[in-house]
Amino acid sequence: MTPTYPPEPFRIKMVEPIRLPAPAERRAALAAAGYNLFALKAEDIFIDLLTDSGTGAMSQHQWAAMMEGDESYAGARSYIRLKAAVQDIFGFKHFFPTHQGRAAENILSAALVRPGNSIPSNMHFDTTDANIRARGGRPVNLVIDEASDPASLHPFKGNLDLAKLQAFIEKTGPENIPFGLITVTNNAGGGQPVSMANIHAVADLYHAHGIPFYIDAARYAENAYFIKLREPGYAEKSTLEIAREMFSVADGFCMSAKKDAIVNIGGLLATNDDAVAERLRNELILREGFVSYGGLAGRDLDAMAVGLYEGLDESYLAYRLSQTAYLAACLKELGVPMIEPPGGHAIYIDAGAILPHIPHGEFPGQSLAVEMYYEGAIRACEIGSVMFAHPDPESGAMIYPRLELVRLAIPRRVYTQSHFDYLAECIGRIVQRADSLKGYRFTYAPELLRHFTARFEPL
Ligand SMILES: *Cc1c(COP(=O)(O)O)cnc(C)c1O
Repeated sequence: MTPTYPPEPFRIKMVEPIRLPAPAERRAALAAAGYNLFALKAEDIFIDLLTDSGTGAMSQHQWAAMMEGDESYAGARSYIRLKAAVQDIFGFKHFFPTHQGRAAENILSAALVRPGNSIPSNMHFDTTDANIRARGGRPVNLVIDEASDPASLHPFKGNLDLAKLQAFIEKTGPENIPFGLITVTNNAGGGQPVSMANIHAVADLYHAHGIPFYIDAARYAENAYFIKLREPGYAEKSTLEIAREMFSVADGFCMSAKKDAIVNIGGLLATNDDAVAERLRNELILREGFVSYGGLAGRDLDAMAVGLYEGLDESYLAYRLSQTAYLAACLKELGVPMIEPPGGHAIYIDAGAILPHIPHGEFPGQSLAVEMYYEGAIRACEIGSVMFAHPDPESGAMIYPRLELVRLAIPRRVYTQSHFDYLAECIGRIVQRADSLKGYRFTYAPELLRHFTARFEPL
């Protein structure tokens, strides 16, 4: 079946020129960047799929709202408008704006994580993982086994495994678990959704042991739309109603607004617990700014207040998820292995399957991502051993992630069908010559979040 592309539910009113650099320029740029795509200049990139974070196109309504930003230090109108939106959609007692998601994670971890604590989740995203480790805590991933089978068509591959969670709580002791998390959608595991039934069951299990339940909500709207499409009983509910139900069973949430709230900067943190709120408030004022702006300008809060609703718009979500499905279908026709079914915000190519001759320690995902830049000045993101391999705290032996992935994250409302066709052609050509690709090794790597600043050389 020929893949079909949905017409965009918007038209383009402003354009940003992009340029395809010549092959020799691409080779020079990569060598200068130490083969780390984070070190490339944006002007040397034709199609940038490094992240869907903060890279979306804001609407005319968001730009108009920015003009009304109130830059008062305290009690600004912008804060009050954002507060109303957060209360309406998420409904928590206390909420704090932060400058982005990891700032919310840092503050939450500073307030709640003590050395030796464990924080279970379906899967922690890289910054969440690092913020917990930075406080001496141990992030634990308890996603269902289907998540690591790229061919499994389970509709909710982001679900947390209840039996694993039960066993983990019993073994660790609830007193060593200051809070439990779930990430919706599961970014580190392929952008896969979590079902409403799973969210309810996870909340019940945490609560049965007196453990507070928080949601990492970066893609709350895509997750809500997947529930509407795939979970019996939700087809007739609006995404707003579904989102409200998701958050009604949680004790709080942290969130990067740079994803589903379609803003270029911003984050949120919320809780129902008065004592926790007190600690969060103190941390926020110390690190981010006063409680009514949290490191952002008033205008940023207004863009977020509007974007929180635009992210939930069902014609936008239908377009967004079918755009991702279109790219997946094009790649599949060319024989590119990936996590299936495709998630909401990205395609996760199975680099380990394309490059079986490159071992984990020589970074097959990095090799594929570098090749995509050579081929078409495309920038993607390795989500494999560069990002997640770490020494076991007890034995010191390297623990490698099960999957070596390359993520094509799709910025919101930015690229069109012809960009996707170009991408698929470039990747199809690489798969044809996969045997000739080589591995990489580090020439520099920091201890935490090393994918951002590491440097490599080809083997
Ligand atoms: C992006 C993201 C974060 C971190 O947010 P930033 O705004 O990039 O700091 C945390 N968790 C998930 C699931 C994310 O996708």
